[in-house]
Amino acid sequence: MGCSVEEVTAAVRAAAEIVRAHRDELVELDREIGDGDHGENLHRGFTAVLAKLDGGGFDGPASVLKVTATTLISTVGGAAGPLYGTAFLRAATALGNASEVDGPLAAKAIAAALEGVVARGKAAPGDKTMVDALTPAVAAAQSTVDAGVLAVLRAAADAAEDGAASTVPLVARKGRASYLGERSAGHLDPGARSTAVLLRALAEAAGQ
Ligand code: ADP
Ligand code: MG
Ligand code: MG
Repeated sequence: MGCSVEEVTAAVRAAAEIVRAHRDELVELDREIGDGDHGENLHRGFTAVLAKLDGGGFDGPASVLKVTATTLISTVGGAAGPLYGTAFLRAATALGNASEVDGPLAAKAIAAALEGVVARGKAAPGDKTMVDALTPAVAAAQSTVDAGVLAVLRAAADAAEDGAASTVPLVARKGRASYLGERSAGHLDPGARSTAVLLRALAEAAGQ
C-alpha cells in the first residue's frame, strides 16, 4: 500500500532525527574537504522543518514535502540548502495531488529530486557530489517500482549508500571540495553521505 500524508510526515520527521544523529559525522566529513559546516547546516534546517511539521495542517503528501523544501531553502544555507530545497520542491511537484505515495510515485519523486539538483548545481555523476548518491538511487528506485513504496525506498537507500561510498576515490569537480583539486581524493563526499542517510531514514520510516 502507499504512504498517507501522516506516514509521509512521519518519514520526514525520521529524516530530521537521523540528521541530528549524523550531525557530527557530516561535520567531520566536511572538515576534511570543505568548510566543516554540512552537519550543522542540515541540523539547523531539519530542526526548523520539525517545528513546521508540528504546525500540521497538511492536505496531502506534496504539501509536507513543499513545506520541507521552503524551510530548508530559508534555513540551511551553503551549497546544500538550495540543492536539497530544490530536491524536495521537485519531489513535491512530482507527487501532485495524490493522497498516497505508492511505488511508482515514490520513484517519480526521487527522479524529480535528482533532476532538480542537477538543474540547480549542474553536477554530473563522478563530480563527487550528492548527485553520485542520487543517480544510482533513481535507477534502483525505477527498477523496483512494482514492488511497492517500501521496496522502492529501500532500494534507493541501498544504492545511495553504495553511490556515496563510490565518491571516496573521486576528485571533486563541483562545490568547495573542488578547490582542493587532487587533494579531495580519498575522502567521502559529505553531501553524498547525507543523501544516503536521508534516504535510509525515509525507507526505515516507511517500513514502520
Ligand atoms: P558549503 O560547501 O557551501 O559549505 P555544505 O557543506 O552544506 O555547503 O554542502 C556541501 C555539499 O554540497 C558537498 O559535499 C556536495 O555533495 C554538495 N554540492 C556542492 N556543490 C554541488 C553541486 N554543484 N551540485 C550538487 N551537489 C553539490
Ligand atoms: Mg560546507
Ligand atoms: Mg559553508
